[in-house]
Amino acid sequence: MISKVGIIGEGKMGTGIFNYLLDFNYELVWICSPVADTEKINRQFGKKIKRSLDAGIIDQSRFDKLIQTHISKNPGDLHDCDLVIEAIPEIAAVKKELFLTLDHLVKPGAIFTSNSSSINPSEITPPGDRGFQFSCLHFFYPVQLKNIAEINTTKKTNGSTVIALESFLQSIQRHFITLDERNSFVLNKIFLDIQNEAYLIVKADHCSVPQMDHLVRQTLFSFGIFDFCDSVGIDTMLASVTNYTRDYPHRDYYASFIAGLNKLVMEGKFGIKSQEGFYKYPMEEVLINDFPASDSIAEHLRQTWLSASKRFAAQTHLPIEDMNRAIKEYFGTENGPFG
Ligand code: NAD
Repeated sequence: MISKVGIIGEGKMGTGIFNYLLDFNYELVWICSPVADTEKINRQFGKKIKRSLDAGIIDQSRFDKLIQTHISKNPGDLHDCDLVIEAIPEIAAVKKELFLTLDHLVKPGAIFTSNSSSINPSEITPPGDRGFQFSCLHFFYPVQLKNIAEINTTKKTNGSTVIALESFLQSIQRHFITLDERNSFVLNKIFLDIQNEAYLIVKADHCSVPQMDHLVRQTLFSFGIFDFCDSVGIDTMLASVTNYTRDYPHRDYYASFIAGLNKLVMEGKFGIKSQEGFYKYPMEEVLINDFPASDSIAEHLRQTWLSASKRFAAQTHLPIEDMNRAIKEYFGTENGPFG
């Protein structure tokens, strides 16, 4: 039974997961980094739920429960949580260290999960019995809008942990796919093939970054390729793409995209969070001109989407309807690659 949930990290994903879970009947503990201004975060949270009470969005009994939400910098406050969701930066060594510490602080039997978007859970699982209750629980950005999550398990993750995580996701109205870590992060990997093709097309000067994003939004998905990278964070993208492709026999195919992301990171351009990535922020209105090969580029990217989806569907052995729904939710399309 999961009734108390801990979230770690006050960045984009930690904040998104915390805010999303507020709408459900869980007791929450939110652990922020040592440098966070938790007094300010607590004050803002208090004001937010008071506004919800005054506006009739929540009733007094819900307010009384939410006001007990615990926000601090002390990981020891997670001690009686049933589920812990970690959302700190995408650095395996840092995550591993955190889970080692938590293993001593949190009650035995609690489930530990990482929101990692590219690190296999077995790389960061603490040794010992906690491994039976460990998996990745991968929400997507923006958490409020993307109705899909991935559970990525290790060889050690036990059946009751998977069942508990699946029921948790059902209780918070999230669709999910469950895969063992050999097939982890499948949705991002499908998108990577399209991102890579788009990057190569822009690099070959067939169109500009804004033209490509405009074309993709008009013809394929609800977001562009490069504004997506900027909103995820170029550093997170670089870590993810490097991890995904590490064992690909054809990894050279992604080398140019990885080099492009690396260059941006070296220049301190992390995307929206540093006000510059592929774009500068606040983003200026630019006039997007049509360009000659737009129809064939859109068709090429659509074919890339279809073939990557088919390849990963075959590799994961997920039921086609589950895969199709997950892809539709992820890309925000009315139809998936399988109808
Ligand atoms: P982020 O850089 O925005 O936030 C990370 C937060 O963790 C920061 O607020 C930092 O201060 C905090 N932190 C660092 N060490 C901490 C510690 N020891 N204890 C508590 N807090 C600590 O990163 P993010 O985009 O929120 O990503 C978090 C995780 O989610 C990563 O693993 C990432 O790969 C994954 N993810 C990101 C996205 C995305 O779109 N950005 C999508 C899905 C998954």
